[in-house]
Amino acid sequence: MLSHKTSVHFVNAEGHGNKMMLVPTFVLLYWKKFLLIIGFVMTILLVIIGIFIYQKTSQHYQAQLERANYVRKQIDLQKLQQSFKSIDESINKVNQFMTARGLHSLKMKKIDQNALMMQDVNKMSALYQKNIQKLEENVVLIPLGKPYEGKITSHFGTRANPFTGHGSEGHSGTDFRGKMGDPIMSTAEGKVSFAGQKGGYGNCIIIDHGFNLQTLYGHLSKINVKVGDSIKGEKTIGAIGSTGRSTGPHLHYEIHFKGERINPELYFNF
Ligand SMILES: [Zn+2]
Repeated sequence: MLSHKTSVHFVNAEGHGNKMMLVPTFVLLYWKKFLLIIGFVMTILLVIIGIFIYQKTSQHYQAQLERANYVRKQIDLQKLQQSFKSIDESINKVNQFMTARGLHSLKMKKIDQNALMMQDVNKMSALYQKNIQKLEENVVLIPLGKPYEGKITSHFGTRANPFTGHGSEGHSGTDFRGKMGDPIMSTAEGKVSFAGQKGGYGNCIIIDHGFNLQTLYGHLSKINVKVGDSIKGEKTIGAIGSTGRSTGPHLHYEIHFKGERINPELYFNF
C-alpha cells in the first residue's frame, strides 16, 4: 500500500507542456490528515522557536538588570563608606577631646554593615552623620572632666566648717588641693564672663558655655584671661592660689546650670 503510487497529470490549458507526477497513493487518499499532521508539526516547531527566543531575551534582560543593580550597589557602598569615614572622624575628635579631659573614650560598637544594607541606607547614614556632628559640636561646650588633677579635699554639699571645725556649712563646689602656681584649665569651650576679685572666691574666673552652663574657678593666684575672651580647646586660664576665703593653695570649682549651683563631680565622668 505505502509503495503504491498514483500518476497525476497536470494538463496545461493551452495543450502543451503537460506534466506528470508519481505521488504515493496514500497521500491522495488521506490528504486531509496529512495537512493536519504538517500543521501540527509546524505549530510545535514555532512554539519551540518562540520559547528559545524568549529565553534568550529574558536572559539578556536579567543580565542587564543584574548589572544595573551592581552599579547601584557600588554607588550606595561608596556613599556609605564616605559616611562611615566621616562618622569615624567625628568619634575620633570626641575621643581626643575626652581623653584630654581625662575621661574614658566613647566606646562605639562596630556597626554591622549587613544590618545597615537596607533600602534607605543613604538616608540612614546621613542622619547618623548629622547626629554625631551635633554631638561633637555640643560636647566641647559641656564642662566635662576636671579643671585640675589634684586630690579632692572637699565635696559639693554640706561639710564641716573648715575654719572653725564647728558646725556645718553648704559647699557650693568641689575643692582640689594643689601646688601654688600650678596651671588650671577650663573644662569646656566658652566665653569669659568674669575675671577678677570676687569676695570669698578671691581671684576668680567665670566662663559661660551656653546651654545655661557656667563654670567658676576660685582662689587663683594668677588670672590669664580677661572678660570677653573666647576659650577654645585646651587652655590654661589661671593658676592655683589661696586668695579669698581659703586655708591653703587649692582650686574651688563650681558648675552653674540655669543659675543654680550643681555638683561638679557629676560631670567628672561621662
Ligand atoms: Zn571650695
